[in-house]
Formats: sequence, structure tokens, C-alpha cells
Amino acid sequence: KLRVEETMRRRLHNTIQELKGNIRVFCRVRPLLDSEKSDNAGLPIRLPECEDKNEIELTQSSENALGKVTSKTSPFKFDRVYAPESSQDTVFEDVSQLIQSALDGYPVCIFAYGQTGSGKTHTMQGPDTIGDVSDDALGIIPRAVQQIYANTSKLAERGWEYVLEGQFVEIYNETLQDLLAPSGRGGSSSQQSTGDKQTKLEIYQDSDGHTRVKNVTTVRVDSAERVHWLLARAAENRTVAATNCNERSSRSHSVFTLHLRGTNVLTGESSSGVLNLIDLAGSERLSNSGSSGERLKETQAINKSLSSLGDVIAALAKGSRHIPYRNSKLTHLLQESLGAGNSKTLMFVCVNPSPASAQESLCSLQFATKVNSCQIGTARRQAGS
Ligand code: ADP
Ligand code: MG
Repeated sequence: KLRVEETMRRRLHNTIQELKGNIRVFCRVRPLLDSEKSDNAGLPIRLPECEDKNEIELTQSSENALGKVTSKTSPFKFDRVYAPESSQDTVFEDVSQLIQSALDGYPVCIFAYGQTGSGKTHTMQGPDTIGDVSDDALGIIPRAVQQIYANTSKLAERGWEYVLEGQFVEIYNETLQDLLAPSGRGGSSSQQSTGDKQTKLEIYQDSDGHTRVKNVTTVRVDSAERVHWLLARAAENRTVAATNCNERSSRSHSVFTLHLRGTNVLTGESSSGVLNLIDLAGSERLSNSGSSGERLKETQAINKSLSSLGDVIAALAKGSRHIPYRNSKLTHLLQESLGAGNSKTLMFVCVNPSPASAQESLCSLQFATKVNSCQIGTARRQAGS
């Protein structure tokens, strides 16, 4: 009897080990910009000499009423910590396994979290100017599509045929906008409060229980080049929407979704994966007190959706019966990918190294630490689902 128990225990342990690590957190510190180099105060961020340690230390100094300066250092540890000089190439090397998982039929989410200006868009997409950027500068979205292309051609030799379909939406003030709508339709019409019924996007569950977006433009990503076209159109739609509010892109989440459906014409096997690449709204604490009108609404929407994201991850990790997906459009949209027992989630916490950002960096690192302590698959298994 003991031996049976021991075998069972070991088997359970192995299962848990297997499921562990389906949420990972990578921390990326961006370089100081030229405009920040004049700030001569000591840098608050310190990384160990040895990169493999994956640690980061943040020191905060504060001056009390008597002029006495005290400082407090907090250490953090993540699955990976990238120093400012780390290239897009280096970062993508650690992500490519996850991209392969989406091709193998897993639901995958990669988030970029951090205050405005911390490097989220640089990480997910690349430099702002799409078009004539050098390949070295490309971020995760174009590299992911390139890799998927290279791999589908290899898999084709073994009978696999893939259909790739992309959509790109922005969530602003708890409203979805279509970034791939024919130029001027997605962004501009929704900017006017009259609202064009035809372009109103809604999240719904289809008859198979899949989360879908009604009226969204889906694009067959039939070549690696197609993604550049797609990013350019998204950038254009964003600009149209931004005329009234320049900082809008930092106040909205953008979610690029690629559905990857494969069938093997030789064996009859099939696979269905989904890759979500999410550039989150700036996480900076915006005080509710000082803002009013549109600003207040934006602030509340961002606070709500970022905290909902944390709540959903925590609820999944605890194996809670009720997962509060419906508390924000972001979590509702990602419900299927985040909740699936086999889903894989990676969060980049992006950090601005300048002294002026120390407080925000601390908040980001604390949020990321909370996410890092969650393991969704393990808890779901324990909860028996
Ligand atoms: P966010 O999207 O978080 O607001 P950005 O990605 O726009 O931030 O980055 C802010 C600025 O810092 C941009 O000018 C960007 O080019 C630069 N930047 C960000 N990360 C890096 C990096 N790893 N290397 C070089 N420049 C970077
Ligand atoms: Mg950005």
C-alpha cells in the first residue's frame, strides 16, 4: 500500500513539476536615453556582474524634513533579467520557445508591463517608425511571425498545413477599437462619440465556446512580409485616433492576436494554437484626485484593467471557482488563453533606469513579483479542472 502511495505521490509531483513555469516573468531594463544622461544622481538600478543571476536591485533615496537622506534597497529575482545593453536578438532567443508552443497548439500570452517610456513598445514591436528600421531593431511581433513562417515551411515537409489569421485591437477606456480596419475606419469613427454601429466591436463566445470579437478585421497572414503591412496599418489607425489626445497610445492596451490552425494532410492530426502579444497601457500611478473628465475616466479604466489582470492571474493560481474575467475588457478578451490549463504566459516588466522613475520602477517590480509567484496550471490541476 505504501509503495502505491509513494508512486502516486511521485507521479503527482512530476505532474506538478511539468505544469510549473507556465507563468514566467522577464525583467528588461532599458538604456538611459541621451536626454536622461544629464541627470547625475546615482542610478537606482543595479544588476549583478554576472548576468545569469537574474537579479535586480532597486535603491530608493528619500530626504526627511531635517534634510537627512536615507536609502532603502530592495532586491528582486525573476526568471530572466536583461541589462540595458541586451539586444532585441538576445531577448527573442528566450521567447522563441514560446512562439513554437503556439505553433504546437498551445494558447500563449506575452505581456509588456511598465510605466510609459519604459520600453514596452520597443520590446513588443520595435522602434516607433515602422518601415525603414533595421532588422536588428525589430521587436517580438515581427520576429515571431518570421519564426512562425520559417517553421511552417519546415513542417510542411511533414504534411502540416497552417492557416494563420491575425487581428489587432486596442482597448481604450474599456472600448475595443479595430487597429486593422481599412484606414480611417477603426480609429477615427470610434473617436467620434456618435459611434458607427458597423464598427462597434464586441466580445462574444461562439457556439464552440471560443472567445471572439464581433466585427473585427481578421487578416490572413500569408507571408512574413504581411506583418509589416499589418503593423503599418495599425500605426496609421492609431495616429488617426490620436489627434485629440497625443498620449493616447500610452493610455490604451494593444493586443495582437494570431490564430494558428494546423492540419496534417498525411496523418489527419490537427492543432489549434493562439499567440497573444500585448502592449499594456502605462502602469504609472495616475492620481484620481487631480484629474477630471476624460483624464479621470482614462485613469480609472487603466487602473481597473491592470488590477483585473493581476486579480485574474491570482485567482487562476489559487484555483478559485470564480475567475473575474468580466471585470475588464482586457481579461475578457484573453479569457480563453489565460484560463486554459495548458496556457503559457510570459510577462515582461519593463524598467526605466533613471532616478526620476525609481518610485514607478519599484511599483512595477512589485507587481511583477506578485505575478511571478503565481502558477496557473498547478492550481488548476489541484482544483481538479
Ligand atoms: P513605452 O512603450 O513603454 O512607452 P517605448 O518602447 O516607446 O516605451 O520606449 C521609450 C523610448 O526608449 C523610445 O524612444 C525607445 O526607442 C527607447 N527604448 C526603449 N527600450 C530600448 C532599448 N532596449 N534600447 C534602446 N532604446 C530603447
Ligand atoms: Mg508604448
